[in-house]
Amino acid sequence: MQAAIEYQIIVPGQRHFNCASLHATLDTKSCADRWARAMQPDMEKFVLCRRCPIGRQHHAEHHPEQQDAVRQPERAPVCVRCGRPASRMVGNEICPSCFNRFREFLKGRNGRGSVPVNYRPPVPRRVGVLGADDVPAWALFDGQHHQEAMARATRAGLLLSPAQPGCTHWNAERQAFEYRDEAGRVLIELEIDGRVEYVGVEQLHQGEQPAAVTMPTLLMTPDEAAEWLTLSGEGEGLGIDWHQLEFGCASCRQGMLHGYKRADGIHVRCSAGCC
Ligand code: SF4
Ligand SMILES: [Zn+2]
Ligand SMILES: [Zn+2]
Repeated sequence: MQAAIEYQIIVPGQRHFNCASLHATLDTKSCADRWARAMQPDMEKFVLCRRCPIGRQHHAEHHPEQQDAVRQPERAPVCVRCGRPASRMVGNEICPSCFNRFREFLKGRNGRGSVPVNYRPPVPRRVGVLGADDVPAWALFDGQHHQEAMARATRAGLLLSPAQPGCTHWNAERQAFEYRDEAGRVLIELEIDGRVEYVGVEQLHQGEQPAAVTMPTLLMTPDEAAEWLTLSGEGEGLGIDWHQLEFGCASCRQGMLHGYKRADGIHVRCSAGCC
Protein backbone atom coordinates (compact mmCIF):
# COMPACT_ATOMS: atom_id res chain seq x y z
CA MET A 1 0.00 0.00 0.00
CA GLN A 2 1.71 3.18 -1.20
CA ALA A 3 1.25 6.58 0.40
CA ALA A 4 0.27 9.38 -2.08
CA ILE A 5 3.03 12.00 -2.05
CA GLU A 6 3.49 15.15 -4.14
CA TYR A 7 7.06 15.55 -5.34
CA GLN A 8 8.97 18.57 -6.66
CA ILE A 9 12.21 18.58 -8.65
CA ILE A 10 14.36 21.22 -6.95
CA VAL A 11 17.71 19.57 -7.62
CA PRO A 12 18.16 17.46 -10.78
CA GLY A 13 18.35 13.78 -9.91
CA GLN A 14 16.51 14.19 -6.62
CA ARG A 15 12.87 14.31 -5.60
CA HIS A 16 11.80 16.61 -2.81
CA PHE A 17 8.53 16.54 -0.94
CA ASN A 18 6.86 18.23 1.97
CA CYS A 19 7.07 16.24 5.21
CA ALA A 20 4.02 17.29 7.22
CA SER A 21 5.32 15.73 10.44
CA LEU A 22 8.61 17.64 10.41
CA HIS A 23 7.17 20.74 8.66
CA ALA A 24 10.09 20.59 6.26
CA THR A 25 10.90 20.01 2.62
CA LEU A 26 13.40 17.22 2.17
CA ASP A 27 14.61 14.78 -0.43
CA THR A 28 13.54 11.16 -0.50
CA LYS A 29 17.02 9.82 0.38
CA SER A 30 17.21 11.95 3.56
CA CYS A 31 13.73 10.79 4.51
CA ALA A 32 14.71 7.13 3.92
CA ASP A 33 17.85 7.58 6.05
CA ARG A 34 15.89 9.21 8.88
CA TRP A 35 13.39 6.35 8.82
CA ALA A 36 16.18 3.73 8.91
CA ARG A 37 17.82 5.49 11.88
CA ALA A 38 14.45 5.73 13.65
CA MET A 39 14.09 1.95 13.41
CA GLN A 40 17.26 1.46 15.47
CA PRO A 41 16.80 0.99 19.22
CA ASP A 42 17.08 4.08 21.45
CA MET A 43 16.56 6.53 18.61
CA GLU A 44 13.93 8.59 20.38
CA LYS A 45 15.17 11.70 18.55
CA PHE A 46 13.66 10.29 15.35
CA VAL A 47 10.48 8.98 16.94
CA LEU A 48 8.22 10.84 14.46
CA CYS A 49 9.79 8.87 11.62
CA ARG A 50 9.54 5.46 13.26
CA ARG A 51 5.95 4.69 12.33
CA CYS A 52 5.91 6.70 9.15
CA PRO A 53 4.69 4.81 6.03
CA ILE A 54 6.25 7.48 3.75
CA GLY A 55 9.69 6.90 5.25
CA ARG A 56 9.23 3.18 4.87
CA GLN A 57 8.23 3.63 1.24
CA HIS A 58 11.28 5.82 0.49
CA HIS A 59 13.54 3.36 2.27
CA ALA A 60 12.20 0.55 0.08
CA GLU A 61 12.93 2.65 -3.03
CA HIS A 62 16.50 3.54 -2.02
CA HIS A 63 17.44 0.25 -0.35
CA PRO A 64 15.45 -2.57 -1.99
CA GLU A 65 18.20 -5.01 -0.98
CA GLN A 66 17.51 -4.35 2.72
CA GLN A 67 13.78 -4.91 2.70
CA ASP A 68 13.91 -8.50 3.88
CA ALA A 69 16.21 -7.49 6.72
CA VAL A 70 13.90 -4.61 7.63
CA ARG A 71 10.80 -6.76 7.67
CA GLN A 72 12.29 -9.83 9.30
CA PRO A 73 12.57 -8.58 12.90
CA GLU A 74 9.00 -7.29 12.74
CA ARG A 75 7.81 -10.79 11.92
CA ALA A 76 9.32 -11.63 15.28
CA PRO A 77 8.39 -14.98 16.72
CA VAL A 78 5.26 -14.14 18.69
CA CYS A 79 2.98 -17.06 19.49
CA VAL A 80 -0.39 -16.68 17.73
CA ARG A 81 -2.11 -18.35 20.71
CA CYS A 82 -0.68 -16.90 23.94
CA GLY A 83 0.64 -13.79 22.16
CA ARG A 84 4.03 -13.94 23.87
CA PRO A 85 7.43 -13.87 22.15
CA ALA A 86 9.34 -17.14 22.06
CA SER A 87 12.79 -17.97 20.76
CA ARG A 88 11.49 -21.19 19.22
CA MET A 89 8.19 -21.86 17.46
CA VAL A 90 6.40 -25.06 16.50
CA GLY A 91 5.24 -24.86 12.90
CA ASN A 92 6.30 -21.20 12.92
CA GLU A 93 3.07 -20.37 14.75
CA ILE A 94 2.79 -21.49 18.37
CA CYS A 95 5.30 -21.56 21.22
CA PRO A 96 6.43 -24.91 22.69
CA SER A 97 4.39 -24.26 25.84
CA CYS A 98 1.12 -23.78 23.91
CA PHE A 99 1.99 -26.78 21.73
CA ASN A 100 2.53 -28.97 24.82
CA ARG A 101 -0.76 -27.84 26.42
CA PHE A 102 -2.57 -28.75 23.18
CA ARG A 103 -0.87 -32.15 23.04
CA GLU A 104 -1.85 -32.84 26.66
CA PHE A 105 -5.44 -31.93 25.80
CA LEU A 106 -5.43 -34.36 22.86
CA LYS A 107 -3.97 -37.11 25.08
CA GLY A 108 -6.44 -36.24 27.86
CA ARG A 109 -3.65 -36.14 30.43
CA ASN A 110 -1.29 -33.39 31.56
CA GLY A 111 2.24 -33.69 33.01
CA ARG A 112 0.82 -34.47 36.48
CA GLY A 113 -1.35 -37.25 35.07
CA SER A 114 -4.63 -35.29 35.50
CA VAL A 115 -7.25 -34.53 32.86
CA PRO A 116 -6.73 -30.93 31.61
CA VAL A 117 -10.29 -29.77 32.44
CA ASN A 118 -9.72 -26.02 32.09
CA TYR A 119 -8.16 -26.21 28.64
CA ARG A 120 -10.03 -24.24 25.96
CA PRO A 121 -9.49 -26.13 22.68
CA PRO A 122 -8.99 -24.15 19.47
CA VAL A 123 -12.10 -24.15 17.25
CA PRO A 124 -12.74 -22.79 13.74
CA ARG A 125 -13.52 -19.07 13.93
CA ARG A 126 -14.72 -16.70 11.25
CA VAL A 127 -12.27 -14.01 10.16
CA GLY A 128 -13.18 -11.10 7.87
CA VAL A 129 -10.77 -10.92 4.92
CA LEU A 130 -10.63 -9.18 1.56
CA GLY A 131 -11.37 -11.55 -1.26
CA ALA A 132 -10.88 -11.14 -5.01
CA ASP A 133 -11.45 -7.55 -6.28
CA ASP A 134 -11.34 -6.29 -2.69
CA VAL A 135 -14.76 -7.76 -1.96
CA PRO A 136 -15.22 -8.65 1.74
CA ALA A 137 -15.20 -12.38 2.41
CA TRP A 138 -14.96 -14.63 5.44
CA ALA A 139 -12.65 -17.52 6.13
CA LEU A 140 -12.36 -20.05 8.95
CA PHE A 141 -9.17 -20.38 10.96
CA ASP A 142 -8.62 -22.32 14.17
CA GLY A 143 -8.12 -20.37 17.34
CA GLN A 144 -8.63 -20.45 21.08
CA HIS A 145 -9.78 -16.87 20.57
CA HIS A 146 -10.55 -14.56 17.67
CA GLN A 147 -7.11 -12.95 17.87
CA GLU A 148 -5.41 -16.28 17.18
CA ALA A 149 -7.66 -16.93 14.16
CA MET A 150 -6.86 -13.42 12.82
CA ALA A 151 -3.13 -13.99 13.29
CA ARG A 152 -3.38 -17.27 11.37
CA ALA A 153 -5.24 -15.50 8.54
CA THR A 154 -2.46 -12.90 8.19
CA ARG A 155 0.19 -15.62 8.23
CA ALA A 156 -1.71 -17.37 5.45
CA GLY A 157 -1.21 -14.17 3.42
CA LEU A 158 -4.81 -12.89 3.56
CA LEU A 159 -5.76 -9.23 3.94
CA LEU A 160 -7.99 -8.51 6.94
CA SER A 161 -11.35 -6.78 6.57
CA PRO A 162 -13.65 -5.36 9.28
CA ALA A 163 -16.79 -5.83 7.14
CA GLN A 164 -19.80 -7.72 8.46
CA PRO A 165 -21.96 -9.93 6.19
CA GLY A 166 -25.14 -7.88 6.67
CA CYS A 167 -27.02 -5.58 9.03
CA THR A 168 -27.38 -6.74 12.60
CA HIS A 169 -31.03 -7.07 13.57
CA TRP A 170 -32.64 -7.91 16.94
CA ASN A 171 -35.21 -10.67 16.54
CA ALA A 172 -37.59 -10.28 19.48
CA GLU A 173 -39.25 -13.64 18.79
CA ARG A 174 -35.95 -15.53 18.95
CA GLN A 175 -34.56 -13.14 21.55
CA ALA A 176 -31.34 -13.07 19.56
CA PHE A 177 -29.42 -10.92 17.09
CA GLU A 178 -29.22 -12.09 13.49
CA TYR A 179 -27.86 -10.81 10.18
CA ARG A 180 -30.26 -9.49 7.53
CA ASP A 181 -29.47 -8.56 3.93
CA GLU A 182 -30.65 -5.31 2.25
CA ALA A 183 -33.97 -6.93 1.33
CA GLY A 184 -34.53 -7.80 5.00
CA ARG A 185 -33.96 -11.52 4.50
CA VAL A 186 -32.30 -13.43 7.28
CA LEU A 187 -28.81 -14.71 6.43
CA ILE A 188 -27.77 -18.30 6.89
CA GLU A 189 -24.17 -19.45 6.90
CA LEU A 190 -22.69 -22.09 4.60
CA GLU A 191 -19.16 -23.39 4.94
CA ILE A 192 -17.33 -24.37 1.75
CA ASP A 193 -13.69 -25.52 2.01
CA GLY A 194 -12.83 -23.17 4.88
CA ARG A 195 -14.70 -20.23 3.32
CA VAL A 196 -17.93 -18.90 4.78
CA GLU A 197 -20.75 -17.90 2.44
CA TYR A 198 -23.84 -15.98 3.60
CA VAL A 199 -27.14 -16.54 1.82
CA GLY A 200 -30.37 -14.57 2.37
CA VAL A 201 -33.50 -16.72 2.77
CA GLU A 202 -37.17 -15.73 2.92
CA GLN A 203 -37.82 -18.34 5.57
CA LEU A 204 -35.80 -20.90 7.44
CA HIS A 205 -36.28 -24.54 6.52
CA GLN A 206 -36.26 -27.25 9.11
CA GLY A 207 -32.79 -27.62 10.61
CA GLU A 208 -31.57 -24.24 9.32
CA GLN A 209 -30.28 -21.70 11.77
CA PRO A 210 -29.67 -17.97 11.22
CA ALA A 211 -25.95 -17.19 10.90
CA ALA A 212 -24.36 -16.52 14.26
CA VAL A 213 -23.62 -12.83 14.85
CA THR A 214 -19.96 -12.61 15.74
CA MET A 215 -17.41 -9.95 16.49
CA PRO A 216 -16.04 -8.07 13.45
CA THR A 217 -12.35 -8.28 12.70
CA LEU A 218 -10.99 -5.31 14.62
CA LEU A 219 -8.46 -3.10 12.84
CA MET A 220 -6.50 -0.09 14.11
CA THR A 221 -3.39 1.70 13.01
CA PRO A 222 -0.42 1.27 15.39
CA ASP A 223 -0.79 4.92 16.46
CA GLU A 224 -4.51 4.58 17.15
CA ALA A 225 -3.92 1.41 19.16
CA ALA A 226 -1.12 3.01 21.22
CA GLU A 227 -3.38 5.96 21.98
CA TRP A 228 -6.36 3.79 22.85
CA LEU A 229 -4.30 1.48 25.09
CA THR A 230 -2.93 4.53 26.89
CA LEU A 231 -6.18 6.47 27.32
CA SER A 232 -8.37 3.48 28.21
CA GLY A 233 -5.85 2.02 30.65
CA GLU A 234 -6.10 -1.31 28.76
CA GLY A 235 -2.37 -1.16 28.11
CA GLU A 236 -1.54 -1.30 31.82
CA GLY A 237 -1.30 -5.08 31.66
CA LEU A 238 1.35 -5.05 28.92
CA GLY A 239 4.87 -6.09 29.81
CA ILE A 240 8.26 -5.03 28.54
CA ASP A 241 8.26 -7.63 25.73
CA TRP A 242 6.20 -7.46 22.57
CA HIS A 243 2.78 -9.03 23.02
CA GLN A 244 0.22 -9.76 20.32
CA LEU A 245 -2.81 -7.46 20.64
CA GLU A 246 -6.41 -8.18 19.66
CA PHE A 247 -6.30 -5.80 16.67
CA GLY A 248 -5.19 -6.28 13.10
CA CYS A 249 -3.22 -3.50 11.42
CA ALA A 250 -5.48 -0.96 9.65
CA SER A 251 -2.47 0.52 7.83
CA CYS A 252 -1.61 -2.55 5.76
CA ARG A 253 -4.23 -5.19 6.82
CA GLN A 254 -1.47 -7.77 6.51
CA GLY A 255 -0.38 -8.07 10.12
CA MET A 256 -1.42 -8.19 13.76
CA LEU A 257 -0.51 -5.40 16.14
CA HIS A 258 2.05 -6.07 18.86
CA GLY A 259 2.50 -3.83 21.89
CA TYR A 260 4.71 -3.33 24.91
CA LYS A 261 4.92 -0.88 27.79
CA ARG A 262 8.10 0.79 28.93
CA ALA A 263 8.87 3.81 31.08
CA ASP A 264 8.38 6.14 28.09
CA GLY A 265 4.91 4.78 27.30
CA ILE A 266 3.14 2.18 25.19
CA HIS A 267 4.65 1.20 21.83
CA VAL A 268 2.76 -0.62 19.09
CA ARG A 269 4.05 -2.13 15.86
CA CYS A 270 2.62 -4.17 13.00
CA SER A 271 3.73 -7.81 12.72
CA ALA A 272 4.08 -7.33 8.95
CA GLY A 273 6.54 -4.50 9.52
CA CYS A 274 4.53 -1.89 7.59
CA CYS A 275 5.32 0.90 10.03
S1 SF4 B 1 10.10 9.24 7.69
FE1 SF4 B 1 8.16 10.34 7.64
S2 SF4 B 1 8.33 11.81 9.28
FE2 SF4 B 1 10.39 11.11 8.81
S3 SF4 B 1 11.20 12.50 7.29
FE3 SF4 B 1 10.30 10.86 6.17
S4 SF4 B 1 8.21 11.55 5.76
FE4 SF4 B 1 9.00 12.84 7.38
ZN1 LIG C 1 2.12 -19.61 23.21
ZN1 LIG D 1 0.70 -3.15 9.07
